[in-house]
Amino acid sequence: MNTTVAKFGGTSLADANQFRKVRAIIEEDPARRIVVASAPGKRFSEDEKVTDLLLQCYEAASRGGAFLDALDRVRRRFQDIIDGLQLSFPLDGELAALRAHLESAPQRDYVLSRGEYLNSRLLAEYLGFTFVDPEWCVCFDADGKLDAAMTRRTLCAALRPLKNAVVAGFYGADMSGRIHTFTRGGSDVTGSLVAAAVNADLYENWTDVSGLMAADPRIVEGPRTVKYVSYRELRTLSYMGASILHTDAVLPVADMGIPINIRNTDRPGDPGTTIVRKLPKGETKYPIIGVAGRTGMSVIQVEKVMVSDESGFTAVMLEILKNRQIPFEQCLTGIDTVTLVIKSDVLAPFKQELFTEIRAKLNPDYLGLTEHLSMIAVIGEKGTDSCDANVRVLQALADMGMPISTVNQGAGKLNLLIGVPEDRYEEAIRTIYATIGEA
Ligand code: ASP
Repeated sequence: MNTTVAKFGGTSLADANQFRKVRAIIEEDPARRIVVASAPGKRFSEDEKVTDLLLQCYEAASRGGAFLDALDRVRRRFQDIIDGLQLSFPLDGELAALRAHLESAPQRDYVLSRGEYLNSRLLAEYLGFTFVDPEWCVCFDADGKLDAAMTRRTLCAALRPLKNAVVAGFYGADMSGRIHTFTRGGSDVTGSLVAAAVNADLYENWTDVSGLMAADPRIVEGPRTVKYVSYRELRTLSYMGASILHTDAVLPVADMGIPINIRNTDRPGDPGTTIVRKLPKGETKYPIIGVAGRTGMSVIQVEKVMVSDESGFTAVMLEILKNRQIPFEQCLTGIDTVTLVIKSDVLAPFKQELFTEIRAKLNPDYLGLTEHLSMIAVIGEKGTDSCDANVRVLQALADMGMPISTVNQGAGKLNLLIGVPEDRYEEAIRTIYATIGEA
């Protein structure tokens, strides 16, 4: 029998009505046997996420302050779901235990985890599935780091005998039973770990958008949804700020080649975006899957005649950055030049000393700094493979008189990175999007 692990995010489980939609989705496909649930998220834009309310409780309690009001808001969120679905869940007892914990020596991760714990218990009761508490099967080591191998074994042992299950997302525990959470949005990671442990055919990630868009909708009007994206392309997109999935959620399933399908709980008929290792043949209508970017970049340029004959010049340059623990985004080397792209806020505190040191150690003929830049990534394993697409993108920018400060494409040809002035960033994105739509 096929197995789909279906993870539902906070907005998908925000109230009783959303629970009903989730049940309809689960019942529609018998392969959806294992569900991973988040805590209730926002029901409308000014609403509060239950995890944020729990954080308020913890912060107030740990200062010895009043937390009962925030705890009551948590109670009301769950009580509304219980009443709306006519469940018989013993909420009062659970919240009394949480209150007692907050009044003693509260532990942050334990308090935060209660949103997922309670919501998953409600969902399990509503679906008639077995509740699986990750306290027993998502394993952290004593330093609070995920023990991936142990987690895989324990999750597999816990889930194998079950026909259906709801696993709470976002947390696990160490050997001493102390609860640990992933970073925020971490139920995506739980979903991925569960999918890998049961060797699922598919990992569905149900959220409130119909997948990944080919460009930022705040800049481009109505960008198309990307149908397929490779794990590598997704990584670039997330790095460039298109946040659709927790970054740690890709690796566990990518290792096993399990596809991830991003779906919309409010529009279950939409196919969403599928993240795969290899794009299916004939599905690459748009070889360039999208365009994304980041502002707030600076470029340092170092030039020295005949430096290409001197070994170690670039290494010294990188050593200077390493010693000061300055991360760089890109390093481009040419004949007699080294160009470094660094985030402006990272560079700001070191600017003067860094330049003094570069002058002292490398004695360059020219040392320049360009600020207020943005980096745009034109992403697509297939698209950037053909220089035709690259030429079209660069030609379109040239036609509009866009000053281009850097162009970078590695042999991996995953993306083409273009540096343009920050104040022309949005214009450049719109132009590139219009070009790649037909690429
Ligand atoms: N509830 C947690 C958060 O708000 C985890 C999650 O939703 O994935 O970050």
